Amino acid sequence: MKALVYQGPGKITLQDRPKPEISAPTDAIVRVLKTTLCGTDLHIVKGDVPSCTPGRILGHEGVGVVEAVGPAVTAFKKGDHVLISCVSSCGKCAYCRKQMYSHCTTGGWILGNTIDGTQAEFVRTPYADNSLYPIPNGADEEALVMLSDILPTGFECGVLNGQIQPGATVAIVGSGPIGLAALLTAQFFSPAEIIMVDLDDNRLAIAKTFGATQVVNSTDGKAVEAVMKLTENRGVDTAIEAVGIPATFEMCEKIVAAGGHIANIGVHGKKVDLHLETLWDRNISITTRLVDTATIPMLFKTVQAKKINPTLLITHHFTLDAILEAYETFGNAAKTKALKVIVTMA
Ligand SMILES: [Zn+2]
Ligand SMILES: [Zn+2]
Repeated sequence: MKALVYQGPGKITLQDRPKPEISAPTDAIVRVLKTTLCGTDLHIVKGDVPSCTPGRILGHEGVGVVEAVGPAVTAFKKGDHVLISCVSSCGKCAYCRKQMYSHCTTGGWILGNTIDGTQAEFVRTPYADNSLYPIPNGADEEALVMLSDILPTGFECGVLNGQIQPGATVAIVGSGPIGLAALLTAQFFSPAEIIMVDLDDNRLAIAKTFGATQVVNSTDGKAVEAVMKLTENRGVDTAIEAVGIPATFEMCEKIVAAGGHIANIGVHGKKVDLHLETLWDRNISITTRLVDTATIPMLFKTVQAKKINPTLLITHHFTLDAILEAYETFGNAAKTKALKVIVTMA
């Protein structure tokens, strides 16, 4: 089968690889129909993720058809259409029992990281009963690819942890795919204001069409002042960090209102200063989280009911043969205006 393989920093190739086989009774083999690329894949290609070693097939998102199941799999059978969670979880360990699937003692984010992933014609999915979700006939499969990772990430790490309330003022720092996913799902809770902050006017224009009430271009280094002005110097009830660099997290520390929440989504590779000298008396909370994908069934219902439309995030389509071009396009988002790309197995 064809597969996109990480070959070490800066190197990926499309290769012929043997089709995966069932190796544990709880495994399924899924024929991938559609997958996508994630910012995390770009981090891996840069060499930022040491757990992902050369020779690994990348990808942790997708939809497909069950090709085979191990003898312990009871919820799925050959021919079932499924959504693949980016997190594999046993369903039995202490973390899984708390729905903290990302910290499953024998699972977590392993697909396309420590085991072969979904950017291939077939993928072995461990703990199939707990890590796959059924897709009914006629569902929009491209929309559902957005439910493997990006929408639950924006929703769980940003919106739920940020405790967005009706009438609240929210700022989302970072208007990339994850920030936009938080923007879409924040609206479940009817905040009064959602202020999007980014460096890219194109992404801010998209944010407006997704429901942002205000946008702030931070290129001039005065985004904090702009947000404070928009909130009559009060700051925001929820500040969602959706970039993963010190400057954006520190911006959240400066714009959070008394009693507010800072919800971090970004993957941070560098230390960030926590300004307790200004925050110690502000009654704020700061949360961090790795996506658990526990909200996939709920998000699925909102997509089916057309409460949100995740296909808005899809800007480009490629076939698996052209996946290197997909990486180029996705990796140069400022130029190509890419948000999420769909890769279809031709
Ligand atoms: Zn991802
Ligand atoms: Zn577990």
